[in-house]
Amino acid sequence: MNLNQLIRPHLRDIKPYSSARDEFSGSSAIFLDANESPFSNGVNRYPDPYSTELREVLASQKGLNVDQIMLGNGSDEILDLLFRGFCEPQEDQVIISSPTYGMYKVLGDINNVEVIDVPLNEDFSLNTKDIAMKATKSTKLLFICNPNNPTGNSFSIEEIEHLIFTFPGLVVLDEAYIDFSPNNSFINYLSKCSNLIVIQTFSKSFGAAGIRLGMLFANPSIIQFLLKIKPPYNVNQLSQRKGLDIIKDEQILERNISEIRNNKKELIRALNVFDFVIHIYPSDTNFLLVKVKDAYSLYAYLVKHNVIVRNRSNQLNCQNTLRVTVGTIEENQRLIILLKEWK
Ligand SMILES: *Cc1c(COP(=O)(O)O)cnc(C)c1O
Repeated sequence: MNLNQLIRPHLRDIKPYSSARDEFSGSSAIFLDANESPFSNGVNRYPDPYSTELREVLASQKGLNVDQIMLGNGSDEILDLLFRGFCEPQEDQVIISSPTYGMYKVLGDINNVEVIDVPLNEDFSLNTKDIAMKATKSTKLLFICNPNNPTGNSFSIEEIEHLIFTFPGLVVLDEAYIDFSPNNSFINYLSKCSNLIVIQTFSKSFGAAGIRLGMLFANPSIIQFLLKIKPPYNVNQLSQRKGLDIIKDEQILERNISEIRNNKKELIRALNVFDFVIHIYPSDTNFLLVKVKDAYSLYAYLVKHNVIVRNRSNQLNCQNTLRVTVGTIEENQRLIILLKEWK
């Protein structure tokens, strides 16, 4: 991979903003360099622009080096940064496979970058042949959401592998739901695949959507470039601190995952009883895509009774589907009780 050819031309020699904390980063000093308030209240100082402590702990947990990790204000900021760093508006393209996470297309539109859709096959598997056919020198990014939102399935490991090895641009593997899946993360491929970008998030299995913390794992040369173009203080101090608390407590993740897994099993069992439930798609995630007889009226009925699911019926090959996030036992029971009363 020639990274320089993938980077937008005007960014190849960009001189990044140099913050006060870039120029001096020691800790025990009198800081009169950043026009901060001197009065201690826990947040009067700018945060570490590189989230160093958080990245160090993540590195040791994931078996990576710190220089393979970048953090963002949610994965959404990271995804946007990829467009801004690699895709020349009205010139370059990216590939997505619908139905998938809506942000890829929205970010393409915002950044004025063409989004080529190579839809999933009807069984929600990847159409690797067509992806290969559409890929050119200017197809900078290939987004693969694995396991996929909203369909819930994981793609074939061999097919993802093949795409990483053959795609001419960067392969962005969005692993927002990987902790719920029985499969391993593709993080292990980073050492041999310099064009691979793996994205994970604190928003799902870690239970911390509110702190907006996303993780990007990639080759050090990609990280170095992204650190140059990211907003200097993109991850705030409260999020860095809370993120550290969460990953240092190893039970949080385990507890969340096992409880969601149990609740999901029970929810599937209970849903399968209803004759208006036509199909529950296999799910490696914390949600279920459910095909029902009349998604629109069922959705409206549930809203009326204060239970909100996501109607995915307008997504490709998702006619009459609802996406149901697995909740607490009580929340799921409430849903099931309502469904029993639906006619
Ligand atoms: C929920 C989700 C995310 C998380 O985005 P954040 O900005 O980190 O909250 C990313 N990708 C997919 C596919 C998701 O479903």
